[in-house]
Amino acid sequence: MNTTDKENSTNLEGCYNSRRNKLRTMIKGEAALFISAPEVVASRDTHHPYRQDSDFFYFTGITEPCTALLVLGTSKGARTILFLRERSPEQEQWIGERIGLSRARRRYAVDEVREWAELEETLIEQLTKVAHLHYAPGNHPDIDAFIWEAMKSNVGPQKSFPSQLSDVRLLTSQMRLIKEKREVGWMKHAADITAHALLSFLREIPTAKTERHAARMLEAHFTRLGSLAPAFSTIIASGKNATCLHHEPQLQPLWKRELVLIDCGASYRGYASDISRTVPASGKFTEAQAEVYDVVLAALEAGISKAKVGNTLDTVHQAAVKELTKGLVDLGILYGDVKDLIAEGKYRPYYMHRTGHWLGLDVHDISPRLAPRDIPFEPGMVFTVEPGLYFDAKDKTVPEQYRGIGIRIEDDVLITDKGNQIITRSIPVAREEIEAIMNR
Ligand code: CA
Repeated sequence: MNTTDKENSTNLEGCYNSRRNKLRTMIKGEAALFISAPEVVASRDTHHPYRQDSDFFYFTGITEPCTALLVLGTSKGARTILFLRERSPEQEQWIGERIGLSRARRRYAVDEVREWAELEETLIEQLTKVAHLHYAPGNHPDIDAFIWEAMKSNVGPQKSFPSQLSDVRLLTSQMRLIKEKREVGWMKHAADITAHALLSFLREIPTAKTERHAARMLEAHFTRLGSLAPAFSTIIASGKNATCLHHEPQLQPLWKRELVLIDCGASYRGYASDISRTVPASGKFTEAQAEVYDVVLAALEAGISKAKVGNTLDTVHQAAVKELTKGLVDLGILYGDVKDLIAEGKYRPYYMHRTGHWLGLDVHDISPRLAPRDIPFEPGMVFTVEPGLYFDAKDKTVPEQYRGIGIRIEDDVLITDKGNQIITRSIPVAREEIEAIMNR
């Protein structure tokens, strides 16, 4: 998360407070509990870089661990209680500054601020007579176990912990699916950082020693342009490595005659961007590479043309699949009627993923179960369109010149009243333009 706590307190607390209030209206008489992300050990006493839980961040803007938010949809008493750790000069000397309770009381428009250690006793105290708790289990085994035990004890006449438990993400995914104007601005900025980083990086590709080196070179541009962290693990896949969808960059060189598939995204203020471009390491596509590239590009444009109010992720996918299947016929890989080939799924060995996903605080925003693919688009929704073709190097069903080619092209699209806006086109997609950038 890129937001400093100071920025939150001065500019954004009103925005977080209005989200909390909106949630309260959705849970009348009920309660919702959000816990910060756990710190994850990398090795012994060193940790992976801390990444806040997206839902907790959405309602607080707080990037500190050991924090929680209890939202009560009750009409009496406290409605929002924030939990965090008290300040500790000794701990802060080693690990960094904490917000602390008194600063939190001044800074956040919550009804109460309590010590993190008081979380469990507060739940017992506050959830009496609340019938329904919304909570996402899975990140904190100790808190999960506490809630489970409290529910199990609902047997005596005095005990009254909520008897209904449901996944709070059913609610937060509804709120997060449509982006506020402010969020759209941040997402555009994240997309711009990634696009401009790619513009610089494409020219430097000949100096990259390995895939891994290339990934760090690209990410250095994210940092230079003001991103705190990549939104996900950067994929740099040289040659046939591109046929593995989530290839982890290795110590393989970027061979001159091969393509380089780049799937990357900077984050800005916690919001993700997600761009794929596939470029020739030499700066010039071979004929076979160009033929496949143009099929994928046509699928991208066909998919994006369906990105408008009322359509769905499925409509976009079907448009892309149609272009890809037509292309597979033109390339001499599939034979027959395009409609039949699609109905029989004959494209699937070469295109095995869907064409897009929701984008937001998480790169794969919103659980697909919570936001099904047939949800009609509305203004403010943001998602990716990312068709690809992947030809296994050993696949004898594919003409030799195409074997080992993997191409994915991906843009991020915002639904507007008038249609859509592609927010990632500061980096072009046309072959000639990519070549021109690389040879500038
Ligand atoms: Ca991607």
